Amino acid sequence: NTTLVWFRRDLRAFDHAALHHALLSSRTVYCAFIFDDDILAPLPRRDRRVEFIHASVAELDAELHQLGGHLIVRRGPALETIAALACELDADAVFANEDYEPQATSRDAGVAAALARDGRQFRSFKDQVIFEKNEVLTLAGQPFSVFTPYKNAWIKRMAAEPQSLAPWPIEPHAARLAPAPTGHALPSLADIGFEPTNLRALGITPGMAGGAALLEDFIGRIADYNDTRNYPAVKGPSYLSVHLRFGTVSIRHLVRTVNQLVAAGAGGAGAPVWLSELIWREFYAMILFQHPRVVTQAFKPAFDAIGWEAGPQAEEAFAAWCEGRTGYPLVDAAMVQLNQTGYQHNRLRMVTASFLVKDLGIDWRWGERYFALQLNDYDLASNNGGWQWAASTGCDAQPWFRIFNPITQSEKFDPQGRFIRRYLPQLAGMNDKQIHAPWLAAQRPAGYPAPIVDHAEARARTLARFAVVKQEP
Ligand code: FAD
Repeated sequence: NTTLVWFRRDLRAFDHAALHHALLSSRTVYCAFIFDDDILAPLPRRDRRVEFIHASVAELDAELHQLGGHLIVRRGPALETIAALACELDADAVFANEDYEPQATSRDAGVAAALARDGRQFRSFKDQVIFEKNEVLTLAGQPFSVFTPYKNAWIKRMAAEPQSLAPWPIEPHAARLAPAPTGHALPSLADIGFEPTNLRALGITPGMAGGAALLEDFIGRIADYNDTRNYPAVKGPSYLSVHLRFGTVSIRHLVRTVNQLVAAGAGGAGAPVWLSELIWREFYAMILFQHPRVVTQAFKPAFDAIGWEAGPQAEEAFAAWCEGRTGYPLVDAAMVQLNQTGYQHNRLRMVTASFLVKDLGIDWRWGERYFALQLNDYDLASNNGGWQWAASTGCDAQPWFRIFNPITQSEKFDPQGRFIRRYLPQLAGMNDKQIHAPWLAAQRPAGYPAPIVDHAEARARTLARFAVVKQEP
């Protein structure tokens, strides 16, 4: 029998559930990746993610080649292309790792139906997370909507089921990997209609090699993670999010690594906190799976009654936020970081999201959409969860009356303005005190805008705006 393994957001040739199961159950295994027209068509021609994927696909092909196989790479609408390829290879089945986003779920249902019409099977496997769907529930059998009890239940289940972290090995049956039957050539970035970006100049290495190098570097600093993770000028976090997004690292490998460090007494205070962050990722994936309506609606329905700012003034304020010219240095530096690199530090995602919603009164969905376009690590579940958290509309969210002060956040988390100076050179000459609120300085810096909103007034407007949901627990 012949199986076709369809790679999507799992671009690695180790610890891979679908590939493992295919190799175990089939005589011949083909591997494929589709550059999906439906996803690529609306993107700008320079997109760091496409370049990251393209390079990761090339690395995956080389790795599979070492093992005796190939990656067959096609471009087209995913459903028709994968069904046609299965037919061409006369595969009995297509195996893939599960993708929980609503659009992916319906695409996969379509693929399964198309394959079934030809008498072929579609099977999907849990790979992207340690626990999926209904695997972590309350004692009453309900999905959690608060993080801490979810995390406790998640950790309890992991401890009770060590096999949930076991790798899905490839090597034992790698001989069943088959080379592409016809000519095999990978398309170039230009062939798929894209141009190179500044990805390499930023020092971002795609693929398994890039993920492994970042992990190794982070393990050396993980013990300090809790002390450093909130300071954007400091190398505190792992920067692994883009690799988690495209599956060039394995979540099981990451969690096992953390557990081993903790067991050896080498993880310090940082390792358990980092594990918590990985559990946040699964929490939001679970929330999206259980409540797909969050894609367009507030998790707490009462919050959809809020009247957001609209019209040309709101559009201008939104443009100023996107382009980093609000006049609030930490917010602006953070947006420049996002625009220039496709990354924004987690503390700053909270600050910029809060500023858009609670200082500018703009619908969180506008900001969510902008992040979706810009973030290298864009992930529907985590992005939506993060935005709804900051906007106070989500599960386990920041209470609506708690409003970040962009100046005190700046003084606290970038005390010497090092991060601000890195991204806003026009403020480099300001002293450590003035840099957080340059409009208060005797001499205003040239080439930097005055604040577009007064924080105290904006705060009062937001409290009034959110009053419609005052009754919400
Ligand atoms: P580390 O601190 O090293 O954390 C390790 C991993 O844990 C991350 O790579 C990520 O997979 C996960 N993680 C950490 N924090 C969170 C969190 N709050 N929620 C979910 N997972 C988390 N993360 C994304 O991966 N994609 C997004 O599109 C995204 N959008 C966000 C939008 C907003 C408004 C906010 C507040 C947060 C968002 N996050 C998103 C979460 C978080 O900011 C990033 O995961 C993190 O900054 C990535 O950097 P890192 O890999 O160095 O993180």
